[in-house]
Amino acid sequence: MEVVEKIKKRVYTFGNKKAEGNSKMKNLLGGKGANLAEMSAIGIPVPPGFTITTEVCTEYNALGKGIVLANIKKEVEKAVLSVEKIMNAKFGDSENPLLLSVRSGARVSMPGMMDTVLNLGLNDKVVVGLAKKTNNERFAWDSYRRFVQMYGGVVLGMKPKSKTDIDPFEEIIENLKEKRGIQLDTEFTVQDLKDLVFDFKKAVYHRLGKEFPSNPWDQLWMAIIAVFDSWNGKRAIYYRNMHGYPADWGTAVNVQAMVFGNMGLNSGTGVCFTRDAGTGEDMFNGEYLINAQGEDVVAGVRTPQQVTKLGSQRWADLAQVTEKLRINNYPSLEELMPEIFDELNEYQQLLEEHYKDMQDMEFTIQEGKLWILQTRNGKRTGAAMVKIAIDLIKEGLISEEEALLRIDPNKLDELLHPVFDPNALKDAHIIAQGLPASPGAATGQIVFFADEVAKFKNSILVRIETSPEDLEGMNLAKGILTARGGMTSHAAVVARGIGKCCVSGAGALKIDYKDRSMFVDGKEYHEGDWISLNGSTGNIIDGKVATKEPELTGEFGDIMELADKFATMKVRTNADTPKDASIAKNFGAEGIGLTRTEHMFFEVDRIKAMREMILADTVKGRKLALAKLLPMQREDFEGIFKAMQGLPVTIRLLDPPLHEFVPHQLATLKELADEMHISLDSVKVKVSELEEFNPMLGHRGCRLGTTYPEITEMQTRAIIEAALNLKKEGIEAKPEIMIPLVGTFDEFVFQENVIRETAEAVFEERQDKIDFSVGTMIEVPRATLIADKIAERADFFSFGTNDLTQMTYGYSRDDAGKFLPDYLEKGILKNDPFEVLDQEGVGQLVHIGITRGRSTKPNLKVGICGEHGGEPSSVAFCYNNGMDYVSCSPYRVPIARVASAQAALKATLN
Ligand code: ADP
Ligand code: MG
Ligand code: MG
Repeated sequence: MEVVEKIKKRVYTFGNKKAEGNSKMKNLLGGKGANLAEMSAIGIPVPPGFTITTEVCTEYNALGKGIVLANIKKEVEKAVLSVEKIMNAKFGDSENPLLLSVRSGARVSMPGMMDTVLNLGLNDKVVVGLAKKTNNERFAWDSYRRFVQMYGGVVLGMKPKSKTDIDPFEEIIENLKEKRGIQLDTEFTVQDLKDLVFDFKKAVYHRLGKEFPSNPWDQLWMAIIAVFDSWNGKRAIYYRNMHGYPADWGTAVNVQAMVFGNMGLNSGTGVCFTRDAGTGEDMFNGEYLINAQGEDVVAGVRTPQQVTKLGSQRWADLAQVTEKLRINNYPSLEELMPEIFDELNEYQQLLEEHYKDMQDMEFTIQEGKLWILQTRNGKRTGAAMVKIAIDLIKEGLISEEEALLRIDPNKLDELLHPVFDPNALKDAHIIAQGLPASPGAATGQIVFFADEVAKFKNSILVRIETSPEDLEGMNLAKGILTARGGMTSHAAVVARGIGKCCVSGAGALKIDYKDRSMFVDGKEYHEGDWISLNGSTGNIIDGKVATKEPELTGEFGDIMELADKFATMKVRTNADTPKDASIAKNFGAEGIGLTRTEHMFFEVDRIKAMREMILADTVKGRKLALAKLLPMQREDFEGIFKAMQGLPVTIRLLDPPLHEFVPHQLATLKELADEMHISLDSVKVKVSELEEFNPMLGHRGCRLGTTYPEITEMQTRAIIEAALNLKKEGIEAKPEIMIPLVGTFDEFVFQENVIRETAEAVFEERQDKIDFSVGTMIEVPRATLIADKIAERADFFSFGTNDLTQMTYGYSRDDAGKFLPDYLEKGILKNDPFEVLDQEGVGQLVHIGITRGRSTKPNLKVGICGEHGGEPSSVAFCYNNGMDYVSCSPYRVPIARVASAQAALKATLN
């Protein structure tokens, strides 16, 4: 195994203001490990520990447990020793014990997708020692019961089996709470905690037939392996696929000395953000809990308190908590522990300046001492991404170029979706108020289980709280609503990351999973009932609320301006109607790269004339029908030219196989026969003659124009006449007539002649002229190979990469849905080639087509009009291959503009 031989160092230590790693080593140490090292080195108080590299994970996946444990044994033992020295305690010792956390951490953060074990190193003896050492028996047993619970879940696989089952450990906890008549974990007595440990272990034995492991070193080795395994867990795989992260990255394992937020009232734990992750507002914010550990804040078991006073007051307003109650029961950290707050505030500023980006941090307070446990560039909504980027330029922290390169073009999509119509909101009936966890507007039908979101087209996932297992459903839902949990709860963090509208912590909801109902505002809502969420205010609204198009001003406009400043490759749009054309123009489209004329023929009054044309026996009959279509087409083109106001418009001549236009139901066939004064039987025969075995490779594209030149003639006439009509009105039109599916030189020439002759005829009739060009769509592989010849006559090329992908792979677009998912799942394909341009294969043909075309005509205009024109990595490819423009659907225009600018910037950087 090559990997193994190459690895020299498998473990990197950090702690005591030193570190062997740094923040640049994310690929090797994972994001968490690299940042722990960096923080330690710049003097932030981080509990000491060490990172086992991602290479070891890859090694483990290739060679298995035995070899890998042998390979890391010495280095890990040495690293534990160094942690013991710094902490002045000993792992596994029953008098002065050191406890460890074993944390996952891939090169990119995948919050909650992998596993972590806390308080490792406890057993029946060590717990007694810990109690003595800390003089805090309650804390020791609380840590122990947490350990058994986490280790049982993560390492021993004691997770609930089905969605209606509850976690076996939670069940034990709930039963005990009920028996004791208490509600909070913090109310357990020492004896309760001891009972819990006993019962947990019994449950483990019952389920697995094995004792809970008591040797701390065994615990450690098994936990390390479990963390590696979690890289290939179901959640992690789904998350990786969603973001396109390759399986061979692997996760690092961070082993770190425990610090304890559960040691009493002068201890606690929390998470904080240097700016608002929902809106981007420059406001330090976060949540914490007193006497708590680890995920308590995120899991929503207790209502978390706000870190800052201002945040606390805002929260109280929304939660309808009086100022008095707030100060007594939910004071901010700023008020409760002002010194700790000042220190935290200092670190958050330092870290943001150090990383020059918004940070998402974890902290723990152990008996009045502050520890930082994690920092990372915070996940944020599309809106926050844009605002923060612009603000950081204004604050002089980053340059325009850096800001633009940081934009994830795909995330701009979130800003392009409809928002609630303010007029409709005035009449809305608000049934409850939650926290504005992730902005956006969502209207949908209630579902209570993540795996049932697909039941409705528009679903709102309503949960008491969400967990990492729910990710897939959260992604499919239109919005997410939870009864528990704060602004940093799992639901909130995930929703912001995927740009989904979310309202969290709506305490007024009474949710009954069994009954699939929720009770709120005096009314019972059931699965399937409609509600609406306003993720910006936290309002929960009865029924549907109307939406409207968003306005693209403010920081979004600034980003677009920056994109224009650096982009050289233009962005056009694919639009078939004046409405789409003007939407795209508002988004900054610099022309139309593809107008599909066939869509115009599907409207009711037109389809009849179209069918008559198709079924006509003679040229004369066909021309008669085409004459009916001419004025309609002309009108369409006038509308589109008008919308584009002098920008170039590429119009593709008729492309799809004709059978797509003919009816197949008897009644419609009969109607058609009557109208055409022919017998039903002869209509039936004609329709069946149009059937093809493989219509994608059949009588379509310029093959239609070859058989029926009169179609090309009519379409050309409509285009030229429309342009001339507008010229009279003083509006410029720049038609580019595009011949589809060309595979041979003579095919192109034949169509081009028809087009030019028709245009000349119209110019003669009208005694007026306009400029136009004639080019071709390059979508048949053969065309790319003879591109030098085609370019002798063609004025432009537009790569139709949908068909080109289909024909290069030999995957039918209509049937690929049956097998592509298997290819993706098995990793045989990394991406769906119809979404992300296959640069390796199809890309070669594109490259050949451009190079050969330009060898004949150096200034040949080249663009792309397949779906790939709006996909950022494909846009970069187009730029790198010298295209003049990309063309994409209207809503992707801003995304393509940013991607185009980024490609240009990256090229100058290299
Ligand atoms: P994730 O990647 O899912 O955030 P983490 O590894 O960050 O998982 O750990 C989960 C929780 O446990 C976090 O709240 C973290 O702060 C806490 N935690 C991890 N290590 C320690 C430690 N050494 N001491 C105290 N708390 C810890
Ligand atoms: Mg974490
Ligand atoms: Mg095509």
